[in-house]
Amino acid sequence: GGRLACVGLGMMLGAHIGPRARSHVEQANVVFAAVSDPLVEQWLQGMNDDVRSLQVYYAEGKPRRETYRQMVEAMLEPVRAGRFVCGAFYGHPGVFARAPHEAIAQARAEGFIAYMEPGVSAEACLYADLGIDPGRFGCQHHEASQLLLYRRRLDPSAHLVVWQAGWVGDRQCLRFSTGPAQRALLVERLREDYPADHEIIVYEAATLPVGSPRIERLRLDRLEAAVLNPHSTLVLPPAIALQPDLSMQARIDALARSEA
Ligand code: SAM
Repeated sequence: GGRLACVGLGMMLGAHIGPRARSHVEQANVVFAAVSDPLVEQWLQGMNDDVRSLQVYYAEGKPRRETYRQMVEAMLEPVRAGRFVCGAFYGHPGVFARAPHEAIAQARAEGFIAYMEPGVSAEACLYADLGIDPGRFGCQHHEASQLLLYRRRLDPSAHLVVWQAGWVGDRQCLRFSTGPAQRALLVERLREDYPADHEIIVYEAATLPVGSPRIERLRLDRLEAAVLNPHSTLVLPPAIALQPDLSMQARIDALARSEA
């Protein structure tokens, strides 16, 4: 019967793909590709004869919801016809990505076997390139527009990673970039929890083995003037020290004494 595997290709062309993801790409009847670079699509074409682009569904001025719905439909149609379909996504297919999660849920709801193979995401790359261990101080991840549209609690003693900052404030997800006015609102929101001179990092993982990552450090109040691309991620290191919870520390010490 029909089957769907959504796999991650990793961020760097040819360098991050796992053996399971690779074998799905090679063995599927059809591969649907959502990748950032035409070179990556060419590379997939070398592994499978039937690679179809999902990029065609993106358009300026078209609500992203509609784009995702069409991507899900495109992947499910051959599954319903009994074929083995592979959705190949750059990075991790389940990280800040709607279509793979929705396609898998929909395929399962229709009784088909569907699953996800994880990949190396932008998150994994930034830990390596910026020398950040999320376990050291904790690490919050937020989508830039969501940070503005909803009341979220930021913890400035942890790392903060802001995704999709390049189109912050685009409510219907109609565009691929927004301007300085929207960016100013993001700075205003971050200023509630961080000082104006706090160091912030614009990060872009390298996607080709010959390239190097973009790591640009600037003050928070200079963010408006920074070049932000659709593939830029913002990283804010902690602004304050960890705040000790003295009463909990005392209770843990008391427990240790009572057990000694
Ligand atoms: N699934 C992807 C992953 O695993 O990294 C993320 C897809 S999400 C739709 C797009 C966002 O991911 C961008 O706005 C940016 O925050 C981040 N991103 C994508 N490519 C990146 C890169 N080369 N370096 C840093 N962040 C990147």
